Amino acid sequence: MNNYLPDNGQFSLPELSYQELGTAISAETISFHHGKHFKAYIDNLNRMLPGSGMEGLGLADIVRKSEGALFNNAGQVLNHAMYFEQFSVTPSPISPEFEQMLARDFGSLEAFEKEFEQKGVSLFGSGWVWLSSDAQGKLVVTQHRNAENPVTMGLCPLLTFDVWEHAYYLDFQNRRADQLAALWQYVDWRVVENRL
Ligand code: MN
Repeated sequence: MNNYLPDNGQFSLPELSYQELGTAISAETISFHHGKHFKAYIDNLNRMLPGSGMEGLGLADIVRKSEGALFNNAGQVLNHAMYFEQFSVTPSPISPEFEQMLARDFGSLEAFEKEFEQKGVSLFGSGWVWLSSDAQGKLVVTQHRNAENPVTMGLCPLLTFDVWEHAYYLDFQNRRADQLAALWQYVDWRVVENRL
């Protein structure tokens, strides 16, 4: 995965290649989620880094080594960087090789998507559902609360859906399951597969 190195000690808000994602994420949600929530985590992280002993480290390394408020903000920057980067309005399809890996570990692409959605829906409160690769190369789906990221468990994170209410409430209100189901058509599998 990309460790997301800072530029001159600072992280900056990545530009998006899209303004909205059709039936899954409105422009209004993007403007708040990317322009306000994600930006606030970046601003907080940049403010906390000087004197932390972690200046110059990549984002994944900061997440592995930090705790408390620094961990919460660094984790949310890493989570949102990977989240927004993995979608496209013209997504690359899944490769036959990666679909075969999902079939090997979940039974089929459809069975993987069902388990991923179910784990997103059943996560109580705020958090993230992730597809990762473990140390043996097996693909796994895990639930993570708040700002957690699978790198803290030694996993290589590949794909994530944000199940904090700020990710879907303007568009879907309480219907978290409906937004998760709507996101698949915008997943850019080339981005996901390149994280392996
Ligand atoms: Mn979010």
